[in-house]
Formats: sequence, structure tokens, C-alpha cells
Amino acid sequence: MKVKGKRFEGKVAIVTASTQGIGFGIAERIGSEGASIVISSRKQKNVDEAVGKLRSQGIDAIGVVCHVSNAEQRKNLIQKTVQKYGHIDVIVSNAAANPTTDTILETQESILDKLWDVNIKTSILLLQAAAPHLRKGSSVVFISSISAYQPEASMAMYGVTKTALLGLTKALATEMAPNTRVNCVAPGFVPTHFADFLTSNEVVRNAIEDRTLLKRLGTTGDMAAAVAFLASDDAAYITGETLVVAGGLPSRL
Ligand code: NAP
Repeated sequence: MKVKGKRFEGKVAIVTASTQGIGFGIAERIGSEGASIVISSRKQKNVDEAVGKLRSQGIDAIGVVCHVSNAEQRKNLIQKTVQKYGHIDVIVSNAAANPTTDTILETQESILDKLWDVNIKTSILLLQAAAPHLRKGSSVVFISSISAYQPEASMAMYGVTKTALLGLTKALATEMAPNTRVNCVAPGFVPTHFADFLTSNEVVRNAIEDRTLLKRLGTTGDMAAAVAFLASDDAAYITGETLVVAGGLPSRL
């Protein structure tokens, strides 16, 4: 990865669900531009490995186990960050669950609860805990999805939770201005573990690539570049916006 600037020198960034995939890519990108990174996910082993990878690239990083649905672990994530660095400049809320391919009308109540909990509520609770430590000029980025705009049948309710993040972005941008900007990235299809059920199927993969104007899947680097832009001072006059990074897949006018 070629990175020219050091836009995050002296800044502290928390990225949730950041031990692999898009979250790790974001941590790596922001860290390579000078930020101190706080890695987190559910499993200690994954956290340790991700922190090791960042440190081996000369990035300042610590790791904290945090299942985003666990209140104690969320509190600990913020506490450990503030103990070590004293403040927070960037929060990327990246964790999500997609536990079912059922239609919305067939989705069990417990699964509806889980989707709301992991994909929306925990982002709010994490920000409630982090807010007192966010410095002037800080930035929040939510990770939504192209399916926010047109929820696909195989992940319809997941898509609806991602639509809700677009509203949350607008509402919190109002609430947290002028000290903190709140924006969102809506990725297209990226071949990670999360999307494996789609992208490892050649027929599905080809169909996605075919209806993508740029004729390829996205990369974690594509998503990280967009998040880094929105989180940086290059986007100092942008708040309440969602950037679709989907190779030209249909989203909205
Ligand atoms: P991924 O590669 O499967 O990585 C998921 C990461 O989340 C792992 O580090 C995992 O580590 C962690 N994690 C899972 N559940 C967690 C939880 N409850 N609390 C904390 N950490 C958790 O997934 P990804 O594709 O990068 O997805 C990241 C985000 O991008 C999600 O919000 C997803 O909706 C969005 N997105 C992805 C795509 C795509 O095509 N990949 C498209 C649109 C949007 P542990 O197992 O150690 O917890």
C-alpha cells in the first residue's frame, strides 16, 4: 500500500471489529498515516495477532478484547484507550452481524434483536461512553453497506439495519457538531470472511462483478482509503454524509 501523507500524526483511533477484513484494513491505513490504533474484537488471540501485525509495520497499537454487545468490555475498551492515550480522536464503528438469510417476515424475534443490537444499538452505546473523551476536531465513521440502499432478499433485515445507520449518521452529526464530525461509508462487496457466503460462490461473484461498473469486487484497501479520508482533516467540512464505495453499483442519485 502506498501512503503519501501522515494525516493522523498525534491522533488516537479506535476501530471496532478490527482484527481482520475491512476493520483491520482501516486500522492499518490510519495507523500507517501516524495514528495510535486501538484494535478490538471478540477473541484475545485475534486481537494479539492483529496488534502484532501492526507493530511489525512500525504502527503504535494496543489491543482490547471487546465483543460490542458486552457492556463491561465496551467500558473497558474506552477506559484502556483513555488510560494509555488520554483522549480519542477517531472512532470507526465497524462491527456487524448477519446471522440469517431468512426473509424479514420469517425472521425470529431473537435474530431481529441481535441485528438491532450488534448493528445499531452497540454503536450508540459505545459513542455514549466515548463522547466525554472525544477531542475538538474528532471524527466518527460508521460502516454501513450498499445493501442499505436496496436490501437484497438474502440479507434483507441486515440491509435495513444498515439503512438505519444512514439516519443515525445524520442524527448524530447534528447532535455532535461542531466538535465532532459523523460520517459513514457504505461498502460494496469485499471478499472477506463476512461476505464469503457470496463471494466464494463463482456464479454469485461473477454476477456481482458484472453489475458493478468497475467490473471487480472491492478491496479492504478501497474501504480503508475512504474511511481515512472521512476521518481526516481533508474532510474537515464534511459531516452527516455517507460515501458509497461500491465500484458504481446502483445506490442513489
Ligand atoms: P470480517 O472480515 O468477517 O471481519 C469481522 C471482524 O469483526 C473480525 O475482526 C471479528 O473478529 C470481528 N467481530 C465479529 N463480531 C464481532 C462482535 N460482535 N464484536 C466485536 N468484533 C466482532 O468482516 P468484514 O467484511 O470486514 O465486515 C466489516 C464491516 O463491513 C461490517 O460492518 C459489515 O457489515 C460491513 N460490510 C462488509 C461488506 C463485505 O462485502 N465484506 C459489504 C458491506 C458492508 P472476532 O472473530 O475475533 O470477533
